[in-house]
Amino acid sequence: MTPEEVLKLAKENGVKIVDFKFSDLPGTWQHFSVPVHVLSEDLFTEGLPFDGSSVRGFQAINESDMLVIPDANTAFLDPFTAVPTLSLTCDIAHPGPAGSQKPYSRDPRYIAKKAEAYLRSTGIADTVFVGPEAEFYIFDNVRYASQDNIQYAEIDSEESQWNSRGKDGVRNLGHLMNVKGGYFPVAPNDTHQDLRTEMVLNLEALGITVEAHHHEVGAAGQCEIDYKFGPLLDTADKLMLFKYVIKNTAHKYGKSVTFMPKPVYGDNGSGMHTHQSLWKDEKPLFFDAEGYANLSKLARYYIGGILSHAPSILAIAAPSTNSYKRLVPGFEAPVNLVFSQGNRSAAVRIPRTESAKATRMEFRPPDPTANPYLLFSALLMAGLDGIRNEIDPSQYGYGPVDKDLYSMTPEELSEISSVPGSLDEALKALENDHAYLLEGGVFTPDLLEKYIELKREQADQVRLRPAPIEFSMYYDA
Ligand code: GLN
Ligand code: MG
Ligand code: MG
Ligand code: MG
Repeated sequence: MTPEEVLKLAKENGVKIVDFKFSDLPGTWQHFSVPVHVLSEDLFTEGLPFDGSSVRGFQAINESDMLVIPDANTAFLDPFTAVPTLSLTCDIAHPGPAGSQKPYSRDPRYIAKKAEAYLRSTGIADTVFVGPEAEFYIFDNVRYASQDNIQYAEIDSEESQWNSRGKDGVRNLGHLMNVKGGYFPVAPNDTHQDLRTEMVLNLEALGITVEAHHHEVGAAGQCEIDYKFGPLLDTADKLMLFKYVIKNTAHKYGKSVTFMPKPVYGDNGSGMHTHQSLWKDEKPLFFDAEGYANLSKLARYYIGGILSHAPSILAIAAPSTNSYKRLVPGFEAPVNLVFSQGNRSAAVRIPRTESAKATRMEFRPPDPTANPYLLFSALLMAGLDGIRNEIDPSQYGYGPVDKDLYSMTPEELSEISSVPGSLDEALKALENDHAYLLEGGVFTPDLLEKYIELKREQADQVRLRPAPIEFSMYYDA
């Protein structure tokens, strides 16, 4: 879409308000709105000033004058507002002459743009296709958290799960799913069919092509909706819109969606497996009929890069304290840093396919708390590093392993490295290993330092508080 077309769209639909959206450093959409008379073609080059001082990870108060520069390609009419509203996703820049403002170094979207440009500059490929599978839970819309007085949804056994439905009388007992039993009986066990369908229709109306929707393993309402893969920046933009649509569709029905990785103890967590493949001149580069799992040498090196940098990548891919409650054995979440065909307990899975175009690698540790711009960029940078240094995963003990990793003996497992055990460990790994991210100026030290600082603050928030379970373990000591 051109700026001219956006203006036309606004006019034809009686738009009254224009909403500017952008991602903060952790990856949550932020926004502010202006009356439609502010909208002009010039706005797409001149930008609009805002105060960047209180946005997470952005500027200090003494240098807070920033611009949003909307991207016309991201325009959509918001289906969730009562008043006709046009939404635009924006880049962030420092004030300056129209068309030549300096991009803001901590704008996640800028990192994604630089990553795509860097890929082209290497000559290795011109496109990376990315396909995220974001899982989520649908809960009743109760406001659980209020600052320090935190109540939370503790559903830790079949029994309490049943009781949790008991507020207005225990109902539907016979059709409640058992723990890990959500994949995937029909209604009335699956109570979210219509809600997911409405989410899908809303997504498709906004230009996100959906592949499938289904209940997931988590019994307390875990669901998955997959949309079609695409180039890096476009797919990251779409993930932001995807979450917005999913959350707001649920909200309309008094439900609440969470993308946090492990909301329910004892049942599956929510991952965001990320499929990737490199292409050049519209030809896939990951396929070779002679290779293990039909993988080309280039694909193996890409995987080698990702596995060898995985502990550091996890600070971006699994960037919450809660992420490490998901990355434990027994819940289809990966723990071991190996690659494998079809094996879902490996960090890198190669989906079975005979099609050259569909040949890809799936990195399974990420979860939906990751900032998609930073995640997809970091994965690409690690993969390119693997190609540049010809890191064959087999030479470094990263597989292939085709056994079920959950059933291996401790001796067998001791040969295999595993994902970090906590956010702190991952942050340390990122601190020690990030040169591959700085190549071509894609990531900058300024961004990484601020990112690590923010995440350490979050880790401290958790570390310093007594957890509810500690009362049951130690209160009576
Ligand atoms: N929920 C699992 C995870 O945490 C994945 C389950 C699946 O898609 N097979 O990664
Ligand atoms: Mg899936
Ligand atoms: Mg899934
Ligand atoms: Mg998957």
